[in-house]
Amino acid sequence: MNKQLRVVIIGGGIGGAASAIALQNEGIPAEIYEQAKAIKEVGAAIVLRPATMRLFKKWGIYDEIVHKSVHSEFMEIRTEKGDIVQKERWPLITENPDENWAELIHRADLLDTLLAQIPSDSIHLNHKCESIIEHENDVEVRFLNGTSVYADLVIAADGIHSVARKMFSDDEPVFAREHTYRAIVNREEVLDLISDDTAITLYQGDKTHVLLLPVRPGAAQFSVDVIVPSEDSSWRLKVEKEEILEYLKDFSPKIQELINNIESTIDARAIHDRKPIECWTSNYITLLGDAAHATQPNQGLGGNMAIEDADALVEALREATTIPEALKKYEAHRKPITSKIQNLSRQDQVLDFSLKS
Ligand SMILES: Cc1cc2nc3c(=O)[nH]c(=O)nc-3n(C[C@H](O)[C@H](O)[C@H](O)COP(=O)(O)OP(=O)(O)OC[C@H]3O[C@@H](n4cnc5c(N)ncnc54)[C@H](O)[C@@H]3O)c2cc1C
Repeated sequence: MNKQLRVVIIGGGIGGAASAIALQNEGIPAEIYEQAKAIKEVGAAIVLRPATMRLFKKWGIYDEIVHKSVHSEFMEIRTEKGDIVQKERWPLITENPDENWAELIHRADLLDTLLAQIPSDSIHLNHKCESIIEHENDVEVRFLNGTSVYADLVIAADGIHSVARKMFSDDEPVFAREHTYRAIVNREEVLDLISDDTAITLYQGDKTHVLLLPVRPGAAQFSVDVIVPSEDSSWRLKVEKEEILEYLKDFSPKIQELINNIESTIDARAIHDRKPIECWTSNYITLLGDAAHATQPNQGLGGNMAIEDADALVEALREATTIPEALKKYEAHRKPITSKIQNLSRQDQVLDFSLKS
């Protein structure tokens, strides 16, 4: 295929940045258009699985990611009071028996590393896409700031509220009746609450759960994620520590103390996902990442799927002779696995990193 393609990526999140890198490695430059004035990630951990790490090797960023993350081999599950229920290896999600591990990284460190691979003049901030018009041979992307661009291929990696998704489906995000409250604390704050500073530790209550995930070299910090049931589906949430402590009344006093001592901002969000859709590509437009298949976070795979999408899309572009053919190949390859994960993540399990059906 002609490498002088004009490729536009909408969204500078994990999926958009991974797509730009995968294309760049194939000799195809791309322009990213991001709605935000600056790209910032919330303070929280993200779990990277071995298949994703293999792609990072292919893209030449494996060492940098490993340097910034914590290699984790175990997951420890405790009662809300802190008694250890079980400690087990990370479940396999591939056929390879050596892949029962994960790398845990701060989301900002991951995104910064990905974006640093892309020429800064290819990242256009303050460009909120408002419409996409597919013409016979190319695509026009219009932005809220009054500008527009033309492309041979548009990759819409614009997240769960994707504008482009409206071209393929009229579905809306579905509320999972849960909130997560997340903050980063220093390792000293959690040492009394864990037995292994490379494992992820889950304090499992009846409907409320607390997850402790090590991030940053030497597990210097921990991401504290509190998951609670809620009927409030608002997108913009604000939470006070007192409210979180109400949910944690039956938890170990040490967990309550941990939350009480948090001084940083607490990121609060209502968990939503999307149902699998019939089709997410047209001739010259494709969805990618959460825009195509937002899932609930209990398997920790949403970001991993976006990164794998990027690789699969570029592989399809390499193999096909036309863009429409490549997009069909990409969709046919990715949809069965992403739909399976979307459906599994809806099962009522807080922490199920396996793909058992
Ligand atoms: C609590 C929680 C924990 C999670 N934990 C994990 C984990 O451990 N492991 C994992 O793999 N995944 C995890 N995920 C999922 C992961 O965060 C998402 O799947 C991932 O961020 C999807 O990347 P994306 O690039 O598709 O979308 P996003 O990260 O949402 O990025 C979309 C980007 O597009 C921009 N944008 C949106 N609309 C427009 C527009 N109209 N025009 C221009 N730009 C636009 C946004 O500003 C944003 O920068 C978690 C999610 C949550 C909520």
